[in-house]
Amino acid sequence: MASRAHRLVRRLSSAASSYDALVIGGGPVGTEIARLGGLIGLDVAVVDPRGALLAAPTGYVSKVLLDVSNCAERNSRVVPREWTHAKYALDATAVRALAMTADLFQDSSVGADVVAGRTEFAPTVIQGRAAFKGRDASGSYEVQVHGAAPTVVHAPTVFIATGSASTRLPSLPFDEANATGWIFDSDSIVGIGRVPEHIFIQGGGLIAVEYAFIFERLGAKVTLALREERVLQGKDVDIDISAAVGARLEERGVEIRYGDGNVVKVTPPAEHGGVGSVELGSGTVVEAGAFLSALGRGGAAKGLNVENAGLRPPLPSGHLAVDYNSLVAESTGGDCRVFVAGDTVKDCAIYPGGLLSTGLAQGHVAVRGAFPEAWRATFPPVGRRVEGSKMDAFPAVAFWIDDGVATVGVTEQAARMAHGDDIGTASAKYSETVKACVQPRPDDEFLKIVYLKTSGSILGVHIFGKDASEMINHGAAFVNRGQTIWDVIHSIPPAVTYDEVFLRAARRACYSMAQFSGERA
Ligand SMILES: Cc1cc2nc3c(=O)[nH]c(=O)nc-3n(C[C@H](O)[C@H](O)[C@H](O)COP(=O)(O)OP(=O)(O)OC[C@H]3O[C@@H](n4cnc5c(N)ncnc54)[C@H](O)[C@@H]3O)c2cc1C
Repeated sequence: MASRAHRLVRRLSSAASSYDALVIGGGPVGTEIARLGGLIGLDVAVVDPRGALLAAPTGYVSKVLLDVSNCAERNSRVVPREWTHAKYALDATAVRALAMTADLFQDSSVGADVVAGRTEFAPTVIQGRAAFKGRDASGSYEVQVHGAAPTVVHAPTVFIATGSASTRLPSLPFDEANATGWIFDSDSIVGIGRVPEHIFIQGGGLIAVEYAFIFERLGAKVTLALREERVLQGKDVDIDISAAVGARLEERGVEIRYGDGNVVKVTPPAEHGGVGSVELGSGTVVEAGAFLSALGRGGAAKGLNVENAGLRPPLPSGHLAVDYNSLVAESTGGDCRVFVAGDTVKDCAIYPGGLLSTGLAQGHVAVRGAFPEAWRATFPPVGRRVEGSKMDAFPAVAFWIDDGVATVGVTEQAARMAHGDDIGTASAKYSETVKACVQPRPDDEFLKIVYLKTSGSILGVHIFGKDASEMINHGAAFVNRGQTIWDVIHSIPPAVTYDEVFLRAARRACYSMAQFSGERA
């Protein structure tokens, strides 16, 4: 590895052609990998088409729109619900996201040594699109960067974090001239530029549901058509959370067509800005001013020429197959030092895929696995995750759907498959908390604990409601440390917070466990 001083000099002089590690993709996962690599003393380069870190709009666009739609709804009497506000907010967020990267690489948490180095451990960012060329005589990977200044980069270790791209059904008329500006996928929807009177959304996953809330709040009539019998089924969300989210959508006036997600005929509008129609498998015809097809996302590994690096070609979905635990890319033979993390991964021990929290956890595992000694030398034992602990297996997952859905561990349905009648569940509503007396919450918001009745061990925590994405971190600690419902009772303060739902649910679990052991005795 190059010394710190050496690296700094090189960085200040010009872009080098060889690095300790190369990260392909500067989204949130690639950026995190680069940050960790820098912290453990590696000379890292990141290649990204935008020539900047965190510049890809993948994740934040819908979150900004959700926020804008909430504001628009609150202020609808004063401000018309127009797309212009969304545009301003998106631009402002893009600027803030870029500014954030400077702070990321000034992390002072690791100790005086690193603080002294400061921005020295920031990566070199190379603008362009990367593709593997092969391996050089020393075994380093040769990667061609197609950008404003084409270059070839050499690195003995490569991390692929190229993210995802929306899936387009070939049967839909994305390429027809009169469908332009009417039909969208989960990437192009950000360019809609208007709030249609009626939008038809195909799909029942995270993105379809999120946009159903967004457009409904912006004032559009929304029809959501999905093949499944419940929303969010694909992300393996707990059955009660799915039901609550579906019910909330319907209560807000979204028309949900369960089990009717097959589109058999599409007629785009005759003229730009007009109304087109969508015929569903049931024979129902929906007329709408816009059509969003949100049918999942594939990995963005095509075009990387991974075969030149001795890797197996991307799967038809565009994902890369990896070793389940180490995230090393599957190769056709020989040693392999290519790791994959984030949305590009197909299946691995850290799931569900296609989400930011799991992607970041995968990034940690990949860096730690690629450079175990440097990792151990940098992070003091006390701060290290215990090897083999469940901590990596169950990162908390947060979907920013409406007020928030967050989940960690296993769902009730999965737990019952494994443990049958030994599974207990206990729930508590936000509206039961003291805080809700002052700041009321809708009656459908709740927390649910899935636990083993025989031991009280907590297997899963699922939340639908305000601040779910923050509160779930308590749940992650309980699940990953193998804690019980008594630990919840002893560690959650009953102060004036919505966290009180943990306490209330845990007390209910205790009560029903007492009954359970009584019945067994
Ligand atoms: C609408 C929507 C809503 C979402 N909501 C949530 C949510 O609520 N919660 C959640 O956890 N997750 C959510 N996600 C998922 C989350 O955004 C992704 O998991 C996350 O962005 C993945 O990060 P990544 O770095 O792997 O990929 P990306 O963010 O896609 O970044 C990949 C980067 O790689 C670059 N790249 C691609 N090919 C190349 C190449 N050949 N050479 C160089 N660079 C390349 C791309 O330009 C991009 O900059 C959502 C995603 C979408 C689309």
